[in-house]
Amino acid sequence: MNLILPIHSLFLLILLIIIYFGKKRIKSDETKLYSYLLLISLANIIFNIVGIYVGYTSGEVAFLYFLNHLDLPLYILWSSTIFVYIMYVALNQRKIDSYYKIKTFVKYCDILCVIATIFLPFNIIINDSAGYAAGLCVNFVYALCGIYIVSCLIISFSLLKKETIKKTIPIFAFLLLGAFAALVQKNFPSLIVVPSMIVFIEFIMYFTIENPDVKMIERLNEAKEQAEKANHAKSDFLSSMSHEIRTPLNAIVGFSNGLIEEDDLKEKAKEDVKNIIMASGSLLELVNGILDISKIEAGKLEIIDNYYNFPKMFNELVLLTKARLGEKGLEFKYTYDSTIPEYLYGDVTRVKQVILNILTNSVKYTNEGFIDFKVNSIIKGDIIRLIISVEDSGIGIKKEKIDKLFTKFERLDVEKDSTVEGTGLGLAITKKLVEMMGGKIVVQSVYGKGSIFTISLDQKIVSKEEVEKIKKQEVVKETNEVLDISNKSVLVVDDNNLNIKVAERLLEKYKLKIESVTSGQECIDKIACGNKYDLILLDDMMPKLSGSETLVKLKEIESFNTPVVALTANAISGMKEEYLKKGFDDYLSKPIEKDELNRVLKKYLS
Ligand code: ADP
Repeated sequence: MNLILPIHSLFLLILLIIIYFGKKRIKSDETKLYSYLLLISLANIIFNIVGIYVGYTSGEVAFLYFLNHLDLPLYILWSSTIFVYIMYVALNQRKIDSYYKIKTFVKYCDILCVIATIFLPFNIIINDSAGYAAGLCVNFVYALCGIYIVSCLIISFSLLKKETIKKTIPIFAFLLLGAFAALVQKNFPSLIVVPSMIVFIEFIMYFTIENPDVKMIERLNEAKEQAEKANHAKSDFLSSMSHEIRTPLNAIVGFSNGLIEEDDLKEKAKEDVKNIIMASGSLLELVNGILDISKIEAGKLEIIDNYYNFPKMFNELVLLTKARLGEKGLEFKYTYDSTIPEYLYGDVTRVKQVILNILTNSVKYTNEGFIDFKVNSIIKGDIIRLIISVEDSGIGIKKEKIDKLFTKFERLDVEKDSTVEGTGLGLAITKKLVEMMGGKIVVQSVYGKGSIFTISLDQKIVSKEEVEKIKKQEVVKETNEVLDISNKSVLVVDDNNLNIKVAERLLEKYKLKIESVTSGQECIDKIACGNKYDLILLDDMMPKLSGSETLVKLKEIESFNTPVVALTANAISGMKEEYLKKGFDDYLSKPIEKDELNRVLKKYLS
């Protein structure tokens, strides 16, 4: 009896079906078609085994006739399914509409062909090995399957050159195997090799192109790529949005700061200007917050460690908090552990940002009582763990809401603090930054009574020799600070007249000689004509010739050695480094901060 091969194949197929259907699969036409192939071949192999057995044992022709009526259409279904499968691989990426049309067409063909096989006559031939069918119907099935398989081979061949080559080669191999098996079966019908060959093909498919795990990884990679693209688009959008918002803000902040310093301004107007400055400050904070969170999410934010003076940072934080306290009448207590060394090594900008955020929150969410700001420390070798805590007697946070505290755009108790300005970004950024610096932030709070935010952060202790060196550098800096810069000249280059006016206003008090031009070309012409300046403030985003392009041309002028500071509203992360790489000496972001301008002027005009 020729049953050994089909029974073997049946066991293998059942095993394959259990593994395949037991696994988590992605939903796509491809996987659906493969499932159909498995089920069709299961039915086919069972009918074949029963057929061989009945043919051999009883030779029950009527039963075999019935069985073949069920079995013969399965070959057509299997061939048409693999045809549709290949069409999917071929057309999925580019012409999915055509694929659906072909699929529907094949479906109707299948119905017609299955009906035809029911009515077409065939003979049952019984010999000593099994009972098999032959005749018109069998030839019809072979012819149809042949057409499908040849079409598949042609399509696979045409796909060999394209991006689907990885998928096509195995399909190509399966089809050749299938065609070979069909030829063997046609010439030696009693051998019954086709069902086993089908199982064999499905097995190889599973291990090559239809493995659910591999497909899942492929899908994940696709999703990752798409997410990365979307993230990139988001960063670009944010970068240009930051530019667009900062440009008018620069004018608002600049003019308001100028106005408030005027003596003859009426009290009421002064009050209004103060409000304008405050509102622009909040707007700027918001833009910076959005930029920070997007930078963190895009993995673009870097922690840049350097030496810093701890007491100086602590005092700055105290001063900033006192300024925010205004007329609230809160008691503000602050201390730090005297064992903390004067100089530490870490990212002072980010350390300051996270502490300032929890301090600002405590001011915002406390109406009466106190705020207690403490920094304790534990020293282990050359590492110091700073334990920074800010306690307040404010509105507190409900227990069930503590989990939500660090989620972006999440503001708790909005009704209660609807008068308090905020975006719900601060703590999300704080937590991410603290974690990026290898620290932790925790919160304890009693609703209605107050909260304690604690940040633990490891910083490096600076060796004595390093401290000596830093101190020497600082002495040099301080001597520079007293230098008079009133005889120096500055050239401001910006295509926006309003921005030029703001820069002029800000520079006014230094009594410098200020000149301005509105394009890169004019700037180059001035230098080429022999005009000398001590500093150039050069806007980057200008039409025709950008600041960066202007700089390249300036550097081509032989005698040119004036320091050039990039002036830009593009304040997205890493910009400073990028401008320095391009050859600028320094970077100022708009709205120009007074302190930053001070620093730049002192550095280059002393
Ligand atoms: P926001 O810009 O709204 O202050 P944060 O992310 O800094 O955003 O804070 C998120 C929310 O956490 C706040 O809206 C507030 O409800 C709550 N919160 C933060 N700090 C405190 C605090 N010290 N006391 C009470 N509630 C606080």
